[in-house]
Amino acid sequence: MSGQARGEASSTAASDRAEEGGRPGAAAHPLRLYDNFSRSVREFSPLVPGAPVGLYTCGPTVYDYQHIGNFRTFLFEDTLKRVLMFNGYRVRHVMNITDVGHLTSDADTGEDKMEKGARRTGRSAWEIAALYTQAFEADTASLNILPPDVLPRATDHIPEQVAFIVDLERRGYTYRTEDGVYFDTSRQPDYGYLARLDKAGLEAGKRVEQGDKRNPTDFALWKFSPPGSARQMEWDSPWGRGFPGWHIECSAMAQRYLGDFFDIHCGGEDHIPVHHTNEIAQTEARAGTRLANFWMHGYFLLSSDAKMAKSAGEFLRVQALVDRGYDPLAFRYLCLTAHYRTQLNFTWDALDAAATGLARMRAGFHALTMDAAAAPDESSLARFAGLINDDLDTARALALAWEILRGAAPAAVRRATLSRFDQVFGLGLAAWQPPHDDVPAAVEALAEARAAARKARNWSEADRLRAELRAAGWEMEDRVDSYSLKRR
Ligand code: AMP
Ligand code: ZN
Repeated sequence: MSGQARGEASSTAASDRAEEGGRPGAAAHPLRLYDNFSRSVREFSPLVPGAPVGLYTCGPTVYDYQHIGNFRTFLFEDTLKRVLMFNGYRVRHVMNITDVGHLTSDADTGEDKMEKGARRTGRSAWEIAALYTQAFEADTASLNILPPDVLPRATDHIPEQVAFIVDLERRGYTYRTEDGVYFDTSRQPDYGYLARLDKAGLEAGKRVEQGDKRNPTDFALWKFSPPGSARQMEWDSPWGRGFPGWHIECSAMAQRYLGDFFDIHCGGEDHIPVHHTNEIAQTEARAGTRLANFWMHGYFLLSSDAKMAKSAGEFLRVQALVDRGYDPLAFRYLCLTAHYRTQLNFTWDALDAAATGLARMRAGFHALTMDAAAAPDESSLARFAGLINDDLDTARALALAWEILRGAAPAAVRRATLSRFDQVFGLGLAAWQPPHDDVPAAVEALAEARAAARKARNWSEADRLRAELRAAGWEMEDRVDSYSLKRR
């Protein structure tokens, strides 16, 4: 592996970042992130100072709805992005949509999840890809996740994937079997470094699923359509009609939109041993880099202490939370209470506690007087930077928010400070409005009738209705085109 691939990028002085418009406190508390490749917390500095930070996050496989476990990972990635922005960096975020090639088994023997999803729903693979991509985008919006700059679909990038495989073939990294073109992992002494894979151990206990593969860790780059039966999604290639493997889409699209070596690559922890290991293998073979300078992973959301998974039947969608009366942002709050590198067991009690915390924080924030001229408290911002820049310690940053909210600083300063914190939390504190007092339908009807009377300049009727409203205990205040109702 090349020096650039194995080594860490040289670090830019923290003062450079401050001069680039970094946040107060950032210089005193440089951003430090856990890199799974080196298994260490390292100081972050962009590969190209002044250029946007390149961030690639593995996106959803759109054969079904995403569950809240998936969203825990997307929320961690959104928090990371917001922390980078808090530190004054611009971010170029690419998230792929996996709409082909992700097999039901990581060992390349299973069925394409998209074709299976099509059978399950009775729709075409293309239809379900569109449907679940749309649902994914709606759910991310409800969780206040910032949209990526580029959201490329694997099926829109077949030529890039084919070109990538052609290059790997030219370099001697591939071989063919009956059912596809495979990557020969024995060509790379460093294969599996990210996951610290025990290749010798794997070789010794060769698994049943190996099929025609030469080594247990070899993986598909291109799979042939099954003989005699057409797939819904298939393309011609130099090797025959078929479809790309799952890992090649990410190497190819990352290369297209971010280059051969960019700043940060993320996904869920399950991606470490196979998907990300293979992305690195492909890019290392083609370009001599480990693809990203930092490899970061969100740890699982568990359900009854087991991984929440689409394939394991029961799973919770964001909509399931809404159906039970929760604001999706309560789930965001819940995720902020746990460090992204620890697994989090989902329970309704935990969500209740998060919903209560969110409701109190919103109400507390809302009660603070707003003064556009008030500036945030610099020392609180520096403390905040110290926490979030310590590998995204959102739990302690939330505790600090509570301390500020209940503190003795002038209300407008507290509000301005918390608004800045919320750029990272993404809880939408400033946008929240308290729900309207519940107005009985009869009172609402009287108010409507009075508004109509006023519009018709029927003043005596308007006065009579106002008196009736007062007698019912309500005061009506007129505005130009509307009115408000308050209890007397
Ligand atoms: P998928 O749609 O299966 O490709 O997964 C989308 C993202 O969710 C990936 O980054 C996965 O690693 C991640 N993921 C899957 N299950 C969980 C879980 N239970 N908790 C957290 N992240 C998950
Ligand atoms: Zn990926």
